[in-house]
Amino acid sequence: MQASVLPFMRSLPTASSVSPNREVRARWRKHARGAMLGLALGDALGATVEFMTPREIRQQYGRHDRIRGGGWLRLPSGAVTDDTTMALALGNSWLASRNAPNEEDYARAFDAWMRSKPVDIGNTVRRGIAHFRRTGQAWVPPSEDAGNGATMRCSPIALALLGAPADTVARATLAQARVTHHNPLTDAATLTVVNMIQAGLSGVGIRAVMQQAHLLVEAFPLFRFRTHKVENPSGYIVDTMRVVLQAIDLCDSFESAVVDVVNRGGDADTTGAIVGTIMGALHGEDALPERWLKELAPEMLSRCSEQADALIERSPAWLLGL
Ligand code: MN
Ligand code: MN
Repeated sequence: MQASVLPFMRSLPTASSVSPNREVRARWRKHARGAMLGLALGDALGATVEFMTPREIRQQYGRHDRIRGGGWLRLPSGAVTDDTTMALALGNSWLASRNAPNEEDYARAFDAWMRSKPVDIGNTVRRGIAHFRRTGQAWVPPSEDAGNGATMRCSPIALALLGAPADTVARATLAQARVTHHNPLTDAATLTVVNMIQAGLSGVGIRAVMQQAHLLVEAFPLFRFRTHKVENPSGYIVDTMRVVLQAIDLCDSFESAVVDVVNRGGDADTTGAIVGTIMGALHGEDALPERWLKELAPEMLSRCSEQADALIERSPAWLLGL
C-alpha cells in the first residue's frame, strides 16, 4: 500500500462502539439503501447533461432537476450508466465470494461487466480491463492517469466493510481500484469517498463526513474546495472531487446537493453518482425524492436495494451484533 493513503486510515466508530440492536440495524439498512439508490439517482439525473456546460444546461432546461433521460447517450428516462452498473458488478463480486474478493475477482467482475455491453465506458476503465484480458494481470502499472472511474464505483466496499479495521477497508478499496487505475490522487480520493460513505452510514453526521474531505485536502492541497465555484468538471479526479465536495459542503439535503452538482455540467453523471452515494448514505433512503425514484426502472430499484441489504448484512458491524 502506498504511504500516501496512510493519512486516511482514521478512526470511524467501529462495530464495538455501537450496540447493533434492531434499531441500529434498521438504520444501517436504510442508509445503505440510501447510498446505492442515491448512486443510481445521481447517475440517472446527471447523464442527461453529461458533457454540457452550465450555460448550455440553463438554456436547455433552466434548472435541471427532473430525471428525463436523453443526453449524448440518448437514454430512456431513468436509465443509469457505467457508474451504477460497475458498482453493482463490484457488489456482486462481494456477494459471490465467501470472503473478501481479491484483485482477480474484481477484474473478472469488471471483465464480465464489459462483455455485457454497457451503455458507456471510460477510457481508463476500458484500457485496464483490456490489460487484464491480455496479460491476466488484475492490476495496472502506476500511471499519470488520475481518472474518476475507480471512485464512482466504490460504494459496495463501504457497505460490505462497515465496522472493519481501517487497513482492511483501504486494502479492498485499492484492490478494486488497481484493476483500472493506479495513481496516488485517484487512490486518495477513492479512499476518501469510501470513508465519507462509511461516516454517513455510521450516523455520525455531516461534520464527520466532511472531516474526511478536510483530511484529503491536508494531504493533497490540489483538492482544495472552499474556493470559487468550480464548474464543468472533467473526469480528472481532482476536478471531479472539488465539485463533489463543494456541493456536499454547501447543500444540506440529498436533492439540493445532487441538483447543484449536476447543473455544473461536465462529467455530470459521475459527479451526480458520487454526491448521490455520499448524501444517500448520510440521509438514508427516506430522504430520496419520490418523483425521482418513480422514474428508475423497477428492476434497477430492486437491484440497488437488494444489493444494499445483502452487503450491509455481511459487514462486520452487522455480524458482530449477532
Ligand atoms: Mn457514466
Ligand atoms: Mn461520467
